[in-house]
Amino acid sequence: MTAQVIDGKAFAARVRGQVAAHVARICAECGLVPGLAVVLVGKDPASQVYVRNKHASTIEVGMESFEHRLPAMTDEATLLALVGRLNADPAVNGILVQLPLPAHLDSDLVINAIAPAKDVDGFHISNVGLLGTGQKAMVPCTPLGCLMLLRDHHRSLSGLSAVVVGRSNIVGKPMAQLLLGDSCTVTIAHSRTKDLAAVCRGADILVAAVGRPEMITGDMVRPGATVIDVGINRVECDGKARLVGDVDFASASAVAGAITPVPGGVGPMTIACLLANTLTAFCRANGLPEPEGLTA
Ligand code: NDP
Repeated sequence: MTAQVIDGKAFAARVRGQVAAHVARICAECGLVPGLAVVLVGKDPASQVYVRNKHASTIEVGMESFEHRLPAMTDEATLLALVGRLNADPAVNGILVQLPLPAHLDSDLVINAIAPAKDVDGFHISNVGLLGTGQKAMVPCTPLGCLMLLRDHHRSLSGLSAVVVGRSNIVGKPMAQLLLGDSCTVTIAHSRTKDLAAVCRGADILVAAVGRPEMITGDMVRPGATVIDVGINRVECDGKARLVGDVDFASASAVAGAITPVPGGVGPMTIACLLANTLTAFCRANGLPEPEGLTA
């Protein structure tokens, strides 16, 4: 079998197009523009690239982008005061504090200072609890993007067996909650899981969020399964840097029914879902109907 390649880049472009059309309509009807504030502390090179991309994508869909760049030695009180101002600012519908923060800052404290309704990353403890109890939450962008790709591919996920490899708070756990919400039978695997290969072979849907280059190989994939590769790993190959996922694409795509590539799979969905979440937050704040197909 040669797997169908799920084109996350094209799907993300469609999501951004949907968001842009919705924003244009709101702007024409109500004269309001959704706004996203991104806070970057320090000069971590990868974070700078992410923040630049987020800014460009926000502008592209017609939203307001507010960038706050603070020096690496910023103290907690200063950062919390900024978050407080953004919470109170009616022009700001979404707040994202770029992680990782410098080591002297308490990420949990800062994230939990964001107003839950503006927490477009979905990391605030209230949103975690809402998602866990099946209530309306702001949902973390990467797992939301994976869910959108899966819903588009399968139409119904009900009754399918899903295995999520990885139990982080930002990907693995919310991914498992979302799949459970769509009535999959969910297993979460992690570094202590016994016979990981056998567990993975039980999956109709296999989500890899491990952070280990090409760890999931074809012999761990059930024939015909859908494989979602969340991993983004930079590796050296023949002296050149390249990006690979947590799945060995060559062997897995020979067995799977469908698979996301790296790059061009889950990655582009993350920013698209950040924009979708900002629009959702705006609609909820203003009592407007939420955009269809852009939430969990
Ligand atoms: P974390 O490091 O926080 O979590 C990794 C998880 O993988 C842990 O739960 C760990 O288990 C598990 N794990 C590690 N080694 C093994 C192993 N040998 N067998 C089974 N499980 C194992 O990573 P994240 O969740 O933050 O990210 C995962 C990947 O997704 C990374 O490659 C990251 O770059 C990528 N990513 C991509 C995004 C995108 O936009 N596409 C966004 C966010 C992340 P344990 O808990 O037992 O230690």
